[in-house]
Amino acid sequence: MRKKQHIESDRRRNLDLGMGDYRIRSIEPAGSLAPFTETMSGVMAAQFWGVRGTLPVPGKKTVRYGGNTSCISLRVAQHFFIFDAGTGIKELSNYVVKNNIFPLKAKIFISHPHYDHINGLPFFAPLFVKGNEFEILGTNQGEKKIEELISSPMDGVYLPFTIKEFAAQLRFRNLSEEKLFIDDIEVQTILLNHPGRCLGYRVEYKGKRFCYITDNELYPEASSRYSLVAVDRLIQFVQHSDVLVIDATYTDEQYQGKIGWGHSAVSRVVDIADQAKVKLLCLFHHDPEQYDKEIDAKVKQANALLKARHSSTRCIAPAEGEELVL
Ligand SMILES: [Zn+2]
Ligand SMILES: [Zn+2]
Repeated sequence: MRKKQHIESDRRRNLDLGMGDYRIRSIEPAGSLAPFTETMSGVMAAQFWGVRGTLPVPGKKTVRYGGNTSCISLRVAQHFFIFDAGTGIKELSNYVVKNNIFPLKAKIFISHPHYDHINGLPFFAPLFVKGNEFEILGTNQGEKKIEELISSPMDGVYLPFTIKEFAAQLRFRNLSEEKLFIDDIEVQTILLNHPGRCLGYRVEYKGKRFCYITDNELYPEASSRYSLVAVDRLIQFVQHSDVLVIDATYTDEQYQGKIGWGHSAVSRVVDIADQAKVKLLCLFHHDPEQYDKEIDAKVKQANALLKARHSSTRCIAPAEGEELVL
């Protein structure tokens, strides 16, 4: 309360001194178009808006895969889901604004509140548009529920506005390991191996299965931390996925210096995907020290390993803007 009073008095003092009122105002909706879910072919369509982990990586060396952090949208029937709100969500925001998509009703599933998964959210313009509706879903960290985790960094100190400036209707739902139904769409969650609580998601609809598993560390079999039970649990969860988007932050070489950091190396991800008979393995959450050619090398290594195992799984690293239709 005191903090809010301070911010308010700072604002008034700025106005008294002749400075501008920098409060964000809600954007007026410009028109009405059919939701873009109506334009899709196939059962689901996943679009990648940010594929990197930890930090955005702008520059010439990241132009092919893009430099934004985690954000994927998934169109399923008449529903629009968003997985994580890293800086990639700004690209999605630009797309929604450019195509005049209104009203937008979406569910935003957050894996966990590390910066690279939430720091684009305040810049997602549809949140400022009256008539849009969002539900933000994610897990708690200790006593802190998802509403507090999302709201507290937007307290007017670290950003020039607070969550109260959002004009869209906003709801929150705290999740644990559970199954939820959105019409006929089944969404299942799983707790991942990452510092704090982090959720993976599986979406199933009309026999198609999409999995989003980041951030997650898969220990090598030789590690004292390796657990066959944990591995089997994940394999069961992602079994027969049409698309598995999974944390493959490190090359095997890099991983040696990052054990216990909560992220996986390529060969471990290949092992899981092959055992689970995944159709398309999507390497995701790339380390900021990897540029385009290093990501190419990870894909090449993954496909060579899959070939050596006579696996039916195929591997790609989706780039920013790329869409996969399931
Ligand atoms: Zn991350
Ligand atoms: Zn993380």
